[in-house]
Order: sequence, then structure tokens, then C-alpha cells
Amino acid sequence: MDFDLTEEQRMIQETIRKFADEEIAPVASENDKKAHFPRDLFEKLAALGFMGTPIPEEYGGAGFDFISHAIVAEEIGRVDSSLRGTYSVQVSLVELPIYKFANEEQKKKYLPKLTSGEWIGCYGLTEPNAGSDPASMVTSAVEDGDFYVLNGQKTWITNAGIADLAIVYAKTDKEAGSRGITAFFVERGMEGFSTRDLHDKLGLRASNTGEIFLENCRVPKDNIMGDLNKGFKVALGTLDFGRYTVSAGWVGSAQGCINICKKYVKERIQFGKLLGEFQLVQQMIADMVVECEAGRLLVYRAGHLKNKGLPNTRETSIAKYYCSEMVNRVAYKAVQLHGGYGFSGEYDVERFYRDARINTLYEGTSQIQQLIIGAYELGLKAFV
Ligand SMILES: Cc1cc2nc3c(=O)[nH]c(=O)nc-3n(C[C@H](O)[C@H](O)[C@H](O)COP(=O)(O)OP(=O)(O)OC[C@H]3O[C@@H](n4cnc5c(N)ncnc54)[C@H](O)[C@@H]3O)c2cc1C
Repeated sequence: MDFDLTEEQRMIQETIRKFADEEIAPVASENDKKAHFPRDLFEKLAALGFMGTPIPEEYGGAGFDFISHAIVAEEIGRVDSSLRGTYSVQVSLVELPIYKFANEEQKKKYLPKLTSGEWIGCYGLTEPNAGSDPASMVTSAVEDGDFYVLNGQKTWITNAGIADLAIVYAKTDKEAGSRGITAFFVERGMEGFSTRDLHDKLGLRASNTGEIFLENCRVPKDNIMGDLNKGFKVALGTLDFGRYTVSAGWVGSAQGCINICKKYVKERIQFGKLLGEFQLVQQMIADMVVECEAGRLLVYRAGHLKNKGLPNTRETSIAKYYCSEMVNRVAYKAVQLHGGYGFSGEYDVERFYRDARINTLYEGTSQIQQLIIGAYELGLKAFV
């Protein structure tokens, strides 16, 4: 077992940390308040190679390993979970599944556009009445010559309104449940494809979230990703990538809370002493640090398995479940340590607290992660 980062991983950490501190952090709060997606920062990250971290160089990626991928998510998440969300979706929910499941022609067509930041992608699985149970989706794809005709609606899709490419899941055999789903590449501009932004979110306000509408949208058969009726496998394989990256992002966010609080409790004086001198305050700081470090180790363990190409669904779910709940506890304490000031938009912990709330909800709620972990432990599945 080796707990050290390699020279390359340390260099990546240094580069992305500097970029996060100098370019992302100064505008994160303003972007949140204005619900503004910073396309310029997205493009700068791409120029540094960070919009294709784990994708091989032949497809325009940086060719780094999965621990490096986690480090990038962590460092962006340390200052801005909204932008980290865009990173997660672009790399883990769009590029990595393309790399794993698409054919050579599709990889060559899409990956360089995505890794270079020229195109933004999104992952369209959730529907208004199919969230935790995606196999119950009703979006349909009906064969018509060399095309499939897609009809349906997707909701809560990160990047929907700014995406050039959507990976959309649809029923190609509506009687076959999860065995009748197929993944399609749908490009903006295809007739019958449109999006609408969703507003007034509790957190992640600088991240675009929207709905996708498919109205007799004709998609060429060549745009099927993976095999016909095998899309559910693609969707779940994708979530193994996505859950990993969000977990790393929330470790970063927890670290961000700790960093902010360390500074605050060493400045704020009550009862004639620094807050940080009180034992109850140190207890809170200690709990935050222990929880954050435990989360980081769970993420890196899953990353280690990914690097070795070993099964990691269980370990990724454990990391996702723990980090989701952990960052909520940490952000809660961060607000607590700031007293009334933590309740104000003037202080970053307020944004971190609101942003943290999403994580127990998306990419499989905490209950869904518990059911996955429980099934591994007991050998009994709550759902297929
Ligand atoms: C900001 C944001 C971004 C998102 N981005 C994307 C995206 O990019 N792409 C995408 O496809 N989706 C995305 N989603 C959707 C997200 O993945 C879903 O919201 C999530 O899967 C939960 O589905 P639901 O909201 O329909 O809740 P439901 O499935 O209706 O769940 C409601 C509650 O019931 C619980 N529950 C459900 N089933 C069970 C069960 N069997 N046992 C115990 N409890 C259960 C859940 O845990 C939850 O607490 C996003 C959502 C948000 C809010």
C-alpha cells in the first residue's frame, strides 16, 4: 500500500490548485449570485488539459490516471462546486463513457471536441417520473429506416442548456424494462431537440441545469452508443465514473470549508480569546478534518481500483455515500463556526452549505447508495 502521490500527481495538484486559487476562487461567489456559468474558465481549464484529465492523448486528453482525475475534481471543488459539477459531467458522465463504450469512429468524432473544450456535453438519463428508478423511463426511440425517432423529456440535466452533445437514454423495446434501453448521441441542432433552463436552485447556481425535449427527433442509427438495448449497462457504467468524481469534488469542498474555518477561528475573538482556543471549537475542527480525510481515502481507494481496471462499483458507492453525507456535516459545522456571519451570503461558507445539499440527491441518492452497498454485503438485491 502506498499513500504517497507520484511526482506527476503532485505536479498536477500544484497546477490545478494554483489555477483554482488565482482564477476560480475570486469569481466563484459572484458567479453563484448571478447564476452565471463561466465559459471562459471552462475553456481555460480545457487549455490546461483538465477537460480531458483521464482520456488518452490520442483522443485529445491528458492521459493522466484516476487519482489525478480525483485531484482535479478536489481542487476545483475546494473553491467552486458549480464549476466542479461541469468538470464532472464533461469528463466523467460524457467523455469516459464514450471512451469505454463508443466505437472508434465515435471516439474520434466526439472526444477531441470535448477534451479541447470546444464542445460541452451532458448526460440525459433522469425524467420527470423516472429518477431513482431510471428503468421506468418513457422516452421512446422508434426505428425508421436509417434513423431512430426519439420522443420524450429529460429533466434535471446538468449542462443541458449549454451542451452541444447530449447522451440520451431511450426505450427501444418498451416491454423489456432495463433490457430495452439504448444510449444515443444527440447533437444540438438536430431537428426536434430543444432545451430549457431550470432556475432558482438551492445551490450549484453557477452550474447550468435544464430540461431536454425530444419531439420526433430523428437520430441516425450510427449515433447509437454501445449496443442496441444495452444502454442500461452504459448508464450504470457511466455512474461508476460520475459517482467517483463527485465524491472527490465533495472532499475538496469539505477541505475548502476547513481552510476557511481555520482562518476565521484564528481571527475572531470572543470572551477575550480566539475562537480557535476553545476546546469545543477545536472539537468541531477535528471532526471536520477526520471526516474529510476519511472521505479522501475512500475516494483514492476507488481510484486505485479504477487505475488497475478492477471492479469498483461497491467501493465507488461507499465513497459516494460517505462523502455526500460527510460534506453536509462539514459544511453545517463551517456555518456553525461562523456564527451569524455564516448565515450571510457575504461569507463563502453559506454557498458551500447550500451547494453541499445536492450531493445526497444526485447520481444516486444516499438511499440508493445504501441499497447498492447492502446488496453487496447481503447478496440480496432491493432492485434489479
Ligand atoms: C442539480 C441537479 C443536477 C442533476 N444532474 C443530472 C444529470 O446531469 N443527468 C441526469 O440524468 N440526472 C441528473 N439529476 C437528477 C438526479 O440524478 C435525480 O434527481 C436523482 O436520481 C433522484 O431522482 P428523483 O429526483 O426523481 O427522486 P426520487 O427517485 O423520486 O426519490 C425521492 C426520494 O425517495 C427515495 N427513494 C427512491 N427509491 C427508493 C428506494 N427504492 N428505497 C428507498 N428510498 C428510495 C430517494 O432516496 C429520495 O430520498 C440532477 C439533479 C439535480 C437536482
